[in-house]
Amino acid sequence: MAEERGTEAWHDHDHDRTFQPDIEDSAPGWAELQAEAVRSLLIEKGVVTAAEIRAELERLDSVEPALGGRIVARAWTDPDFRKRLLADGTRAVTEFGASMGDAELIVVENTPARHNVIVCTLCSCYPRTILGLPPDWYKSRAYRSRVVAEPRMVLREFGTAIPDDVAVSVHDSTADVRYMVLPLRPAGTEGWSEAQLAALVTRDALVGVVLPPTP
Ligand code: FE
Repeated sequence: MAEERGTEAWHDHDHDRTFQPDIEDSAPGWAELQAEAVRSLLIEKGVVTAAEIRAELERLDSVEPALGGRIVARAWTDPDFRKRLLADGTRAVTEFGASMGDAELIVVENTPARHNVIVCTLCSCYPRTILGLPPDWYKSRAYRSRVVAEPRMVLREFGTAIPDDVAVSVHDSTADVRYMVLPLRPAGTEGWSEAQLAALVTRDALVGVVLPPTP
């Protein structure tokens, strides 16, 4: 009976907060239905178990952009690692215990003459195994279409002003090829430890919509 009383107490609660729809309130999209069909088939055929899928989702959801920050900080302080990272990003990140799975990682380096931004114009391809889940805006149609057509204006909306004499390159990720930006090391960070440097490099700097702050 205690449980029932608890339920009543919940319903008696004065619900004057903003209504938030349940995720089940909108009809599943085509991709969602397809994913569920494939998932059901894989389980039914004994290829994977529900527990394995759950564990993989949990593992993917546990990746944090801080890993990308550590990789950048290493590249800033270790010239040999920087070379390896730019030459073969996929292989270089394994030094951090990260795996790109079946995808290739290309690390694009910002220079005083060129700024890089990443997008997936088609959907939401993103180096999830090193940066974690992409931000919601990364998946928005507005970002996907506009950053290609007017990157400087989109960057200004993120508060990032790229001078006119600096070129802007936009890299379109796919399922097979994913990008990460290697930002320029901010001035005034000479002698900083890798951990201090890593803390400057946030998710959005790895996508290229902001620059790491100059201390
Ligand atoms: Fe995609």
